[in-house]
Amino acid sequence: MPEKGLVMMVDCLAAAGYLWSRSVRDAMLCVDRARFVPESVRALAYADAALPVGYGQTISAPSVVAFMLERLEMGKGMNILEVGTGSGYNCCLLSRLVGPWGRVTTVDIVPELVAAAKSNCTGAGMGCRNVEFVAGDGSRGYEPNAPYDRIIVTAAMPMLGFSHPLMGQLKLEGKLIAPVGTILYQDLVLFDRKTGRRDLVLPVMFVPLAGKYGFRKD
Ligand code: SAH
Repeated sequence: MPEKGLVMMVDCLAAAGYLWSRSVRDAMLCVDRARFVPESVRALAYADAALPVGYGQTISAPSVVAFMLERLEMGKGMNILEVGTGSGYNCCLLSRLVGPWGRVTTVDIVPELVAAAKSNCTGAGMGCRNVEFVAGDGSRGYEPNAPYDRIIVTAAMPMLGFSHPLMGQLKLEGKLIAPVGTILYQDLVLFDRKTGRRDLVLPVMFVPLAGKYGFRKD
């Protein structure tokens, strides 16, 4: 049985309109957010707030996580790229949504976070055997496992033009969701490669993407 607080969190997200599918609901009830936040902020694990996870990084607010997953319309067996592993929470949800025949590649530029996320995701029966953890600059994507059905970027990007490497790593029927804007404020952009549509779906605040196509070029 999921924790009472977790059930309340999921019910609130549904009531507020951030979550509407059975699949995202089930995944969020299976993956306990409290496992992915440090002890010092665990009391706030089910609050709809971004929380610090160390190295100046945060785990995103559950409303934003749920909304991004819903808008991506993921299915079993898909090949997914996540840029920004952080705590590993979102990656664990992705792993469940695509199922054992799907594949998730998650990349983070901070190797210590990748190691911690890996242990969060694989410990205590969490599964995640379909996840590949990569330490590196995900602003360039991750060519070895491309093309992807879905790409989810969980750090703020300064731009997302058609020549961006992430676009080239998307399948022709693929979709990408990413916060695009300035360091202080972004719009969540949902790009559908098949139709060429780019929709601004939610105003958000993410930590900045570093690396070649990020805000810092190191
Ligand atoms: N999805 C995460 C939250 C991500 S926070 C979760 O569920 O907890 C944003 C993350 O992006 C941080 O961990 C940060 O280290 C990472 N990041 C920043 N620039 C990056 C880059 N160029 N490549 C990969 N990861 C990057």
